[in-house]
Amino acid sequence: MRHIFHSTTSGSYAVVKKILAFFLIIALNGPLFSQNEDAFFLRDIYDTALTEGECYEWLRHLCQDIGPRLAGSPGAEAAVFSMQRLMDTLGFDTVYLQPCMAPRWDRGAPASGRIVNNEFLGTQPLNVIALGNTVGTGPDGITAPLVEVKSLEEVEILGEAGVAGKIVFFNRPMDPRLLNTFAAYGGAVDQRALGLVVAARYGARAVLVRSMTNKLDDVPHTGSVAVVDTVPKIPALSVSTNDAEQLSRLLGRGEVKVHLQSNGQLLPPVKTYNVIGEIRGTTHPEEIILVGGHLDSWDVGEGAHDDGTGIAHSLQVYPLLKKLGYRPQRTFRCVLFMNEENGLAGGRAYWAASNERNEFHLAAIESDRGGFTPRGFSAQGREDVFTDYYAKISTWLPLLEPYGLTFTTGGSGADISGLKSQGGLLMGFVPDAQRYFDFHHTPADVFEAVNKRELELGAASITAMVYLIDKYGLR
Ligand SMILES: [Zn+2]
Repeated sequence: MRHIFHSTTSGSYAVVKKILAFFLIIALNGPLFSQNEDAFFLRDIYDTALTEGECYEWLRHLCQDIGPRLAGSPGAEAAVFSMQRLMDTLGFDTVYLQPCMAPRWDRGAPASGRIVNNEFLGTQPLNVIALGNTVGTGPDGITAPLVEVKSLEEVEILGEAGVAGKIVFFNRPMDPRLLNTFAAYGGAVDQRALGLVVAARYGARAVLVRSMTNKLDDVPHTGSVAVVDTVPKIPALSVSTNDAEQLSRLLGRGEVKVHLQSNGQLLPPVKTYNVIGEIRGTTHPEEIILVGGHLDSWDVGEGAHDDGTGIAHSLQVYPLLKKLGYRPQRTFRCVLFMNEENGLAGGRAYWAASNERNEFHLAAIESDRGGFTPRGFSAQGREDVFTDYYAKISTWLPLLEPYGLTFTTGGSGADISGLKSQGGLLMGFVPDAQRYFDFHHTPADVFEAVNKRELELGAASITAMVYLIDKYGLR
């Protein structure tokens, strides 16, 4: 064919131009036609979510009628049965509960703390909260000198001589330079999760951890700590960022003694449930597309952004498709996971049951980063398949970009992480997360902290993703 392009006769050149134009029209119009159809359908998804969406009312119910939902608590049980009843009305083929045994932790009465008889400040209260899974101090509390560290390694270096009999104060802030606040959280949270294990090994009496947030305020953040049976169990509390700054300044001027009192206790595990709704695929029922979030929350606040919004998003997907007359070709499953916060029992039970039945999750999408303005999806998968999947979803970017959505590679969600071995695509819904850690694991994480419109846009974005995966597959 090559010589044709070097032809000097204008006649044959014109013919070539016509042939090229013809193929150009075919090449452009083929995909353009279906992309137009998809563009219209995505528009319909967003229009419907923004005008007839129900997810905001579902979130209100979960936050205000039910409230906090720590696994094994009465709130969590109420949430399970209430969500099952709600799902029964959403048009699924089947709605069922999947049992799991979750660890049970009870905070008891709120913790308290104070700076004791300080040379410069006298006695001042501290804004503290007990960390999840921890033991209490006993009714009399603990009074001991504070030793400040910025890392787990620093405790190792100080050793028993520097730590024994003291309260170890972990005070490395989340890195404010990281635009991805989840990366900043991930870079600091080892102090909360593992600080007490390292400190207990060297004879510390308790641990006080700077709250996991970029914000400077008076609100302490709870969260889970690792439970390790081989080290003594010592109390661990979190302190607000303002108080952490204050303590650090005081330590620069001399010894600081702190009094802490907390009342947590670990109770025997309890039977609880994941709540699952399923609609069987018409032509590829063996390929599952999962959308989920976690139904449990911390016991303070109302678990609105963490993860009531993920539950509301997940519940909204199928009703939106149904309203638009779209019946999934692949099996769609909405999974409300239990016990993400302090054990992951629901996730583990789900993976085990799924693997036992030899299921294949073509895609799993978790929403557990709050209900703020949608930015896109973070994707991961098994090495042998991921590159192809990522290339495939990237062809849909022209459809998603008008809604501000893009893709990044990275983590998906804790509850779905165990499905990676099945060889499907795992995705995390990514909203703007600059303010997420203002609320995360605090009494401030309440219904009013969620914006209706942003929540509905999130539900629409996830629905759009499910639609494209269902319609085109990933190969
Ligand atoms: Zn969460």
